[in-house]
Amino acid sequence: MQNKSLETPLQLSIVIPCYNEEEVLSETVTQMSKLVDEMIEENLVTKNSSIWFIDDGSKDKTWQMIDEYSQTNTKIKGIKLSRNKGHQNALLAGLETADGDLLVSIDADLQDDITVIREMVKQYYKGNDVVYGVRKVRTTDTVFKRTTAQGFYTLIQKLGVDVVYNHADFRLMSRRAIEALKEHKEVNLFLRGMVPLIGFSSTNVEYARTERFAGESKYPLKKMLALAVDGITSFSAYPLRLIAGLGFSIFLFSIFISLWVFYTLVFTDNAVPGWASSVLPMYLLGGIQLLSIGVVGEYVGKIYMESKNRPRYVIETITNDK
Ligand code: UDP
Ligand code: MG
Repeated sequence: MQNKSLETPLQLSIVIPCYNEEEVLSETVTQMSKLVDEMIEENLVTKNSSIWFIDDGSKDKTWQMIDEYSQTNTKIKGIKLSRNKGHQNALLAGLETADGDLLVSIDADLQDDITVIREMVKQYYKGNDVVYGVRKVRTTDTVFKRTTAQGFYTLIQKLGVDVVYNHADFRLMSRRAIEALKEHKEVNLFLRGMVPLIGFSSTNVEYARTERFAGESKYPLKKMLALAVDGITSFSAYPLRLIAGLGFSIFLFSIFISLWVFYTLVFTDNAVPGWASSVLPMYLLGGIQLLSIGVVGEYVGKIYMESKNRPRYVIETITNDK
C-alpha cells in the first residue's frame, strides 16, 4: 500500500440525500460547513471542497432551504430530483453529479458521527480507495431495529453477498472508485452491495451511531424490508411478492390443519378415513408451489425492470456553481 502525499490535498464532496428534512437541515449545514472549514485549515482538503444536498422530491421546505443556503454559502450545492426516487437513487444522483476527488456519502440526520469524515480522508491518503463507516455501538437504535438490522447483515452474508457488516451508506469513495461505480448500470440499486464489487483497497472506520438530531425516520419498517429484499434479489415487484406471501400463508395453514387432523385422529373418534391423506397434500403442495412461483417471480420481475433500463433519477435543478 502506497502512502499518498498530504502535500497536495484533494477536493472533497460530501453527498447528502434529503427527504423531508427541514427540521434537521440547518443544523446539518452548520455542522458540516464547520467540519469542512476545519479540514481546509488542516490542509486535508482543498478550498473548493463542497457539500451537496440532494432533495429527493421532498414535500416540505427542504428544497427552498437548500436553495437559500446555496446562495449565501458557496460551499453548499443543491440538486433537486424531479420526484421522490428513494434514498439509494438520490444518493447515486449525488455521487454521479458531485465533482470532488473524494466523495463521502452520509445521511442528513446527523446519526452518523460526522467527525469520522476526517479519519476517512486520512485513510484515503494512506492508500485506500474506499473507506467504510461501520457502526460500532447501536445503543440508540430500538431493540427491534438493532436485531432486525443485524439479522439482515448475517442473512445476506450467509447468502454469499459481499457486504460490510454494520455498514450502511456512510462511506468515502475515491474518484476512480466513483467512475467504476458509474459503469454499474443496474436499475435495482443496493449501493452497499455494489461498492464491494468494484474492488480497490478498502478499510473500515468505526463510530458510534447516535440518535436522529430532529424529525422522524424516513425509513419506516416497510422501506427497510423493501431494501432488505432488494439487497438479496436486487429487485422488488410487489404483486409477485404477494404471491409468495400467499403461498407461505397457505403453507402455514396446512401445518395447523395437520396438527388438528392429528389431534382428531389420535384423541377423538371423529376421524373420517382417507380425508386427511387427500386434503392435506392439496394444501401443503399448493402452498409450496405458490411460494416457489413467488420466489421465481422475484427474479423474473428483476429481469423485467432491468430490461426497461429506465433512468434511475431525473434531475430538475442544480444550484449554480459560484
Ligand atoms: N431519504 C431519502 N429518500 C427517501 C427516504 C430517505 O433521500 O425516500 C434520506 C433521508 O433524508 C436521510 C437518509 O435517506 O438523509 C436516511 O434516512 P433516515 O435517517 O430516515 O433512515 P434511518 O436512519 O431511520 O434508517
Ligand atoms: Mg437516520
